Amino acid sequence: MDKARIAELSVTDRANVFHPSTHLAQFARGEAPNRIITKAEGIYIEDAEGVRSLDGFSGLYCVNVGYGRKEIADAIAEQANTLAYFHAYVGHSHEPVIKLSERIVRKAGMGMQRVYYGMSGSDANETNIKLVWYYNNVLGRPEKKKIISRQRGYHGSGIMTGSLTGLGLFQDHFDLPVNVIKHTMCPHQYWNGMDGETEEEFSQRCADELEKMIIAEGPDTVAAFIGEPILGTGGIIPPPAGYWQAIQKVLDKYDVLLIADEVITGFGRTGQYFGSHTYGMKPDLIAIAKGLTSAYLPLSGVIVGERVWKVLEQGTDEFGAIGHGWTYSAHPMCAAAGNANLDIVDKEDLPANAREVGGYFQQKLHETFGDHPMVGEVRGVGLMAALEFVADKDKKERFDPSKKVGYSVAGACLEEGLIARAMPHGEILGFAPPLIVTKDDIDTIVAKAKTAVDKVYAAL
Ligand code: PMP
Repeated sequence: MDKARIAELSVTDRANVFHPSTHLAQFARGEAPNRIITKAEGIYIEDAEGVRSLDGFSGLYCVNVGYGRKEIADAIAEQANTLAYFHAYVGHSHEPVIKLSERIVRKAGMGMQRVYYGMSGSDANETNIKLVWYYNNVLGRPEKKKIISRQRGYHGSGIMTGSLTGLGLFQDHFDLPVNVIKHTMCPHQYWNGMDGETEEEFSQRCADELEKMIIAEGPDTVAAFIGEPILGTGGIIPPPAGYWQAIQKVLDKYDVLLIADEVITGFGRTGQYFGSHTYGMKPDLIAIAKGLTSAYLPLSGVIVGERVWKVLEQGTDEFGAIGHGWTYSAHPMCAAAGNANLDIVDKEDLPANAREVGGYFQQKLHETFGDHPMVGEVRGVGLMAALEFVADKDKKERFDPSKKVGYSVAGACLEEGLIARAMPHGEILGFAPPLIVTKDDIDTIVAKAKTAVDKVYAAL
C-alpha cells in the first residue's frame, strides 16, 4: 500500500475506531502506534507497509490452524450461499450446528451432554453464571449463588465476567468486581510458594485456602468455582502437581460446581483435545471459544455436563422454556467455520503436534533462558509458554513496574519480526503460537526472543 494511503487510513482510524485495551488519549494524539494489518498466511501476518511478523501468539491465542486456510473460507462461503442465518430458538436447527455439537460432545467425553452457543468467551461465561444460578434455583437453594474465581484468572470483560477476571486492569475504575464473585489464591508457586514447599504441598495449600473461603462465605452460599486449566492471560501459569485433584476434593465436599474455562485450552493447545483431559479435571460446565473456529468467525459455547443438564430439564418442566437466548446462538455460518476448522484439527492431529512440537518448544525455552540472569522462571505446557522477568534472580526481586520490562521485550521481539505478548500482570512475555508450528518455526521463535531479551537486558 502506498505511504499516502496508509497515512490517510491511520488518520481515519485514530479518528473513528474505539480500540480495545488501548491508551485512548495517546492513540488519538498519535503518540501510540497504529498498525494496519492487510493479510496473513500460515503463521505470518503482514501489514500495510509490507512488514511481516511471525505471529507467536495466534492473534489472541485463537488462530490455531494458522491463517489463510482455504477450506474454512470455502465452508463459510458455501454456508452463506445456502443458509446464511436462521435462529435456533424453540427447536430450530441447521445441519452444521448439529454436526458440530455432536463432535464437541463426543470429543469432550466426561459426561458432557449439550452445547449452548454464543459469540465470545465472555458471553459463554455469562451463560455459565446464569446456568449455575438457575440450577440452584431449581434445586430450591436460592442462597447458593456466589462464584469463586482466582486472582489473575481471566474470564472475560463484561460486568459479570469482568468480575470473574482477577486482574485489576479489567476492573479498576469500572466498579468491578460485583459482590457475588470472590477471588481465591493464584496457584503460582514461583511467587506464592513458601520456602521448601513441594508442588503437591503448595497445591494442597491452594485447596486449603479455597476451603477456608468457602467456610467463611458459608458453603450454602457458594455455587461454583471457575478456573482455566492453565491460567492464561494472568501469566500462562500451568497448575502445580496435584492442584486440580486437591481443588476437586474441596468442591465435592461442599457441593460446589466446577466450571472449566477452556476458551484458550480447548481444541488442542495443551497437547490433548481439552485442558481438562490434560489435568484430569471433572468439570460440570466448560466454556469454549477461540480454537473452536480458529477465529475465522466468532463462535463460543458452553458444554453442559450431566449433573447440570438433568436439573435444567427438570427446571423447564417446572417453569417452562428457559429464558436464555442470543440472536446469534448456533449461527450456521459460524458452525460451518467450526466444522471446517475442527476437520483440520483432526486431520492434521494438531493436539499431537502441540504435544510433540510443544514439548520441543518448552525444552528449547528452558535451554535458552533457564540460566538467563533476567529470567526468573520459564514455564508452560504444549504450545503455551511464558518467561517471567526479574530484576534479581537469586533474591527473586521484581523489576520496578515503571520500567515496563515486559513491554520492552515484546517491543524488541516485534523489531525482530516476532509477535509475543507482554502479559498484563507483572513482567511476563507470553507465547501461544498456532498449533501448526514446526520445530524449525520454534527455532526461529526462540532465536528471535533470545535476541530481544538480550537487547533489553543490555539496555537495563
Ligand atoms: N476466558 C478465557 C480463558 C480467555 O482467555 C478469554 C479471552 N482471552 C475469555 C474468556 C474471553 O473471551 P472473549 O474475549 O472472546 O470474550
